[in-house]
Amino acid sequence: MDKNFGRFGGQYVPKALVEPLAELEEAFENYCYSEDFKNIYKKYLEEYVGRPSLLYYADRLTKKLGGAKIYLKREDLNHTGAHKINNVIGQILLAKYMGKKRVIAETGAGQHGVATATGAALFGMECTIYMGEEDMRRQKLNVFRMRMLGAEVKAVAYGTGTLKEAVDEAFEEYMKRYDDTFYVVGSAVGPHPYPLMVREFQKVIGEEAKAQILEVEGRLPDYIIACVGGGSNAIGLFHDFIKDDEVRIIGVEAAGHGIESGEHACAIEGGKIGILHGMKTYIMADDNGNIKPAYSISAGLDYPGIGPEHAYLKDIGRVKYVSVTDDEAMEGFRMLCETEGIIPAIESSHALGYAVSEVPKMNKDEIVIINLSGRGDKDVNTAYKYFEKHGFYY
Ligand SMILES: *Cc1c(COP(=O)(O)O)cnc(C)c1O
Repeated sequence: MDKNFGRFGGQYVPKALVEPLAELEEAFENYCYSEDFKNIYKKYLEEYVGRPSLLYYADRLTKKLGGAKIYLKREDLNHTGAHKINNVIGQILLAKYMGKKRVIAETGAGQHGVATATGAALFGMECTIYMGEEDMRRQKLNVFRMRMLGAEVKAVAYGTGTLKEAVDEAFEEYMKRYDDTFYVVGSAVGPHPYPLMVREFQKVIGEEAKAQILEVEGRLPDYIIACVGGGSNAIGLFHDFIKDDEVRIIGVEAAGHGIESGEHACAIEGGKIGILHGMKTYIMADDNGNIKPAYSISAGLDYPGIGPEHAYLKDIGRVKYVSVTDDEAMEGFRMLCETEGIIPAIESSHALGYAVSEVPKMNKDEIVIINLSGRGDKDVNTAYKYFEKHGFYY
């Protein structure tokens, strides 16, 4: 199995992780492509997650923007309200096949922690979530959610007390206890085989979307658009369309207060090539190679790197990576609420923000699919503060 995507990806890890990753790679190859595994996985996606998710024609948003026809891939309708559950169920099912009793994960804002705790409860696994102390203070309700779901949440108190230290702590634990423990990674990032494995569990998004658009329109879309944090919802939508040269593919990173402000999360547009979390990819780093903190209004996009396959797709020019600021994303957020009665996640609103500026320039007979990666209930506090500050609805 190729560990790289062109010059990106790989396995840049300490010696103590080589063996657990080799064991994981072997199990992934042996089980995940077997009919038995695929059937059970599919059954959980249908009966627990609620797949296939809808492909919804957004008529009023289309009329409002006056350009291409807009379809939304409704990952927000999945159980737990986002695409993350597709991946978590796949990985925990694999952990079961491997005979593990316990899963661990790290979490920043808490979304991946809640998804992992959900999957652990579903499969009767012990679950420990590592979370920075500062993040635990900021995300009290998500900590409580994880505990209700039966997970132990361990505070990581050193350093900045945020995601970076939580990741280090989870890797430490994985090295020490991989005999009974599986590390569930939340996006298409990390050392091989994680980026490949996460893609495998998210590619259902694009496979469904393709069948659905062929069914209603009789042809492929002209554009597909997704937001990019680590890149899992995006690669999930993109994967099945990459071979279709006529489909233009767009990944939207979070530009925060603008790339020139330095406060952003654009690993591609505002970063450089380096090593982060065991992979070679585009990262946000200073001249000495130290990771710069990422900023975005959306907690799910403020990751200072990007999955290695995206770095490769950027290199070969197959996917166009763009960026959208907080303000542009919140305009997309507001417009979807008001035209369609759907409150989107602020992450997904970055894809909508791009559509707000670009779809009006497209032809009316063109077709766009936007990945609505999650619902916005979790973001109502953030949206409240933002709209209050900017004088909306008051
Ligand atoms: C976590 C999250 C993201 C960002 O993660 P990716 O791996 O880039 O998909 C995007 N949207 C939602 C709703 C999320 O919860």
